[in-house]
Amino acid sequence: MARSSFSLSFLFSALLIINAFQVSAQKPVFTRQDTLRGSITPERAWWDITYYHLDISVNPLDSTIRVSNTINYRVTGNPTLMQIDLQPPMNLIKAVQNNSDLTFKREGNVYWISMKEVKQKDKIYSIVLSFEGKPRVSTRPPWVGGITWSKDKNGLPFVASACQGDGASLWWPCKDHMYDEPDSMLISVNVPENLVDVSNGRLRSVDVLRNKTKTYHWFVANPINNYGVNINIADYAHFSEVFKGEKGDLDCDYYVLKENLEKAKEQFKQVPLMLAAFEHWFGPYPFYEDSYKLVEAPYLGMEHQSCVTYGNGFKNGYRGTDLSGTGWGLKFDFIIVHESGHEWFANSITYEDIADMWIHESFINYSESLYLEYYFGKDAGSEYVLGTRSNIRNDRPVTGFYNVNNEGSGDMYYKGGNMLHTIRQIVNDDEKWRNILRGLNSEFYHKVVKGSQIENFMSLKTGINLKTVFDQYLRDIRIPVFEYNVKGNKLTFRWNNCVAGFNMPMKIFVSGKEKLLYPSERFSTVQLDVENATIMPDKGFYVAILNISGN
Ligand SMILES: [Zn+2]
Repeated sequence: MARSSFSLSFLFSALLIINAFQVSAQKPVFTRQDTLRGSITPERAWWDITYYHLDISVNPLDSTIRVSNTINYRVTGNPTLMQIDLQPPMNLIKAVQNNSDLTFKREGNVYWISMKEVKQKDKIYSIVLSFEGKPRVSTRPPWVGGITWSKDKNGLPFVASACQGDGASLWWPCKDHMYDEPDSMLISVNVPENLVDVSNGRLRSVDVLRNKTKTYHWFVANPINNYGVNINIADYAHFSEVFKGEKGDLDCDYYVLKENLEKAKEQFKQVPLMLAAFEHWFGPYPFYEDSYKLVEAPYLGMEHQSCVTYGNGFKNGYRGTDLSGTGWGLKFDFIIVHESGHEWFANSITYEDIADMWIHESFINYSESLYLEYYFGKDAGSEYVLGTRSNIRNDRPVTGFYNVNNEGSGDMYYKGGNMLHTIRQIVNDDEKWRNILRGLNSEFYHKVVKGSQIENFMSLKTGINLKTVFDQYLRDIRIPVFEYNVKGNKLTFRWNNCVAGFNMPMKIFVSGKEKLLYPSERFSTVQLDVENATIMPDKGFYVAILNISGN
């Protein structure tokens, strides 16, 4: 997802009134519904999804979605009740197994389904869930989840879903927790005959029905996370190309409103540029089997897997503006680069708990600078990262609360990107750094992960214990202060305003010569080659600097 510029300015003005420490001290109140949504309950843990067939009919005339989701699952534990998530005003009508109706009870956003017979471990079973309703309409897509029922210039329906955070159970019944992904999925969408549905994966077939409707069958051959599943319905124009990538031919398909076809043909020339840059930094595009698609949607954009949605107005920047204030942000289409970058960090490497959403957003915020570096050089990328610092709020920790579907601070974007840029300065070896980024993508290819797995991998591969670095930037709101003092040929320094045990190495330039220091919270002194040298801390580190000699 892209950071909302609206909430940025709103929260900034709110912060002028409320002291940041008061904000951080307020632990939100969580409900039983939050726990049911955000944790791996016993009623989720005993079954492992192997396959979904979401088979729906979408009616733009009355804003309804109906029909069924078939779930194949492997029994992995002791079957009790089955937890299925589906949020009001959507309703579950029926749950059928082996032609036999199952009974169920609703508790808010959750249905408890009673399983009739005892199931055998490791065997695969199937359940068909019939549902219908008018799903919640999004008031601010994609930041508030729901369906957007819009129209194109000819008055034809232009419909799309987006549901990160709020959950796929806003519009279809599923196990709405990120830890469990189906191995594959079929998405069948029935729409009026004059419209096209574009969903994830590859188009298998289109059924033309007698009732003046068509059903589009999209098959996803890879594991897919819940919020990645999406529908996009419009009178689309289509064009395509083949990208020659690291793993061979990658089919790229583009769907845009007919009125925007010419603009799209020009703007989407950035897609192969994006793919080349990200394959260089992160490794092969992770879903060759499912192809890459960029699909126009009636909102800014979202990283739907192999079906990235686009609404950036066919302009460079973020809605035509530069988030870094350096000018570099206008060199690329923010939504093409940012949302597509999520194919690597979000769709291939996926957070298990949204509290660790930094795994998606920190790397992809940082990827914007990597894109610039690839085409405009290292300084361009660096200037961009440093420029985005003005957007950091240090209001709350980047990490949210676990097991209650809680996101951390929006600082997961700019502060997260700056944390990675800082770590890169410590590594101080561009090829090693690139190998770590590519290593993450091969180690955790198509995996759901905890933040700690990413942190440990980076410590292991950098050869530096980064524990306190992650503690500082992800779980604390303070900016560490590098305090130093030069007297004669002696340099005295320490970290202050930091987490206990903070020991991040720090790079400085002593009269222009690079030097790596190992500060701790206690003052250390090193001898310099020159008297009264000028000390320039490396600007790539996201830290505060205090010359305590007062010079
Ligand atoms: Zn994002």
